[in-house]
Amino acid sequence: MPFPSEKIVIVGAGQAGGRAAEALRANGFAGAITVIGDEPHPPYERPQLSKAMLATRDAAATYLRPSEDWRQSLDVNLVTATSAVACDADRRIVTTADGRDFAYERLLLATGTRPRCLAVLGDDGPPRHYLRNIEDAVRFRQRLQPQARIVIIGGGVIGLEAACAAVKHGCIVTVIEAEQRLLTRAFPAIVSDVVAAAHRDRGVEFIFGATVVGSGGSFVRLGSGREIPADEVLVGIGVEPADAIARQIGLSVDGGIAVDARGQTAAPDVYCAGDAALQWSRCHDRAIRVETWANAQNQAINVAKSMVGQGVDYVDPPWFWSDQYDLNIQVVGDLRDADLIQRGRPDDRRFSVMAMRDGNLVGAICINAAKDMAMLRRLVAQQARVTPGDLESPQYDLRRALK
Ligand SMILES: Cc1cc2nc3c(=O)[nH]c(=O)nc-3n(C[C@H](O)[C@H](O)[C@H](O)COP(=O)(O)OP(=O)(O)OC[C@H]3O[C@@H](n4cnc5c(N)ncnc54)[C@H](O)[C@@H]3O)c2cc1C
Repeated sequence: MPFPSEKIVIVGAGQAGGRAAEALRANGFAGAITVIGDEPHPPYERPQLSKAMLATRDAAATYLRPSEDWRQSLDVNLVTATSAVACDADRRIVTTADGRDFAYERLLLATGTRPRCLAVLGDDGPPRHYLRNIEDAVRFRQRLQPQARIVIIGGGVIGLEAACAAVKHGCIVTVIEAEQRLLTRAFPAIVSDVVAAAHRDRGVEFIFGATVVGSGGSFVRLGSGREIPADEVLVGIGVEPADAIARQIGLSVDGGIAVDARGQTAAPDVYCAGDAALQWSRCHDRAIRVETWANAQNQAINVAKSMVGQGVDYVDPPWFWSDQYDLNIQVVGDLRDADLIQRGRPDDRRFSVMAMRDGNLVGAICINAAKDMAMLRRLVAQQARVTPGDLESPQYDLRRALK
């Protein structure tokens, strides 16, 4: 058994922390594992928070595994409802808000992210919501009543999925977006347009190129002075890494907790996994934080293996999906500053856009084309060289491009 007497502490009982703990055991780690989480829940998956949990009034959260499993079958000390508030990196001790000390030989930071707040919304305005945890989702869905005027600030994936749920419950939905179209960073314009049209067809109003500067009574106020009627406001303007413990350890944190391809930070025996980790992306050709379910699972498993001496470099390209009405949207890699090639027709509501840089496939987005995406994920991982003519032909079998 590797490192049988070691103690590992994981700060953050989210998806990355939970999957890492499982992977430590699966890879033979027999020492003590403590997972510290500030939420009152065992690890759960967040994608449902903006999908099933909003769309269906009684949908429950999806836990990684039942509570009793953590102690019984995994022998993990799961400490919930308290934050890790201090870390003495010399003595290797993490202290929680309720005054307990946890010693470690190796530390995994899996603290994820927190929603970016919009400070200009005052207390005298409509109720504000963010969507990060189970309580947020339950509270917001109670407000999704027929004819309720829901204003969503931020036309990102979470805001748009929340819009779908609000429409389903008969709400009047307005989305305010600072850019001139949806998801400028992740979507090419042709995809933004298809997604916006799907929302508009169901009555969602978009206000593009607008910023919210305040709120009051039953409205939010735009920079132009225009007041948008609102009974409830959902803010979805991105997230920030939860990096307080990393800073205490003395790690320099600039947009995330920097790690190498095995999840090791600059501090000895301190690792980081999931949304908080700033890692190199070959597709982007720079370090990025990857805020996706797949990364929180697979990178965390990989980091756990590194922690027990079985690491390999993690090179999976970022991949995420979003479900909006009848659109299944999947994105892999990076589509910015690239030559874009289209496969299929948007009018059919089933098409893909692929991104080539210097002759290499570096990204793709598929709308209702999951089969294409299964291949494209592998091709982007290989940075395959495929001719644009082949890619754009729906008759071309993408499997042929695999090495
Ligand atoms: C509403 C929503 C919908 C999403 N939908 C999708 C989707 O469709 N597809 C997709 O690919 N991804 C989706 N994601 C993203 C995905 O859920 C995240 O990438 C994933 O949850 C990241 O896991 P994590 O463990 O790194 O971080 P988190 O899930 O944020 O977990 C970190 C945990 O650590 C806790 N914590 C932080 N600091 C401390 C501390 N000091 N002490 C103790 N605990 C601490 C936090 O409270 C949290 O519980 C969605 C996310 C949200 C919020």
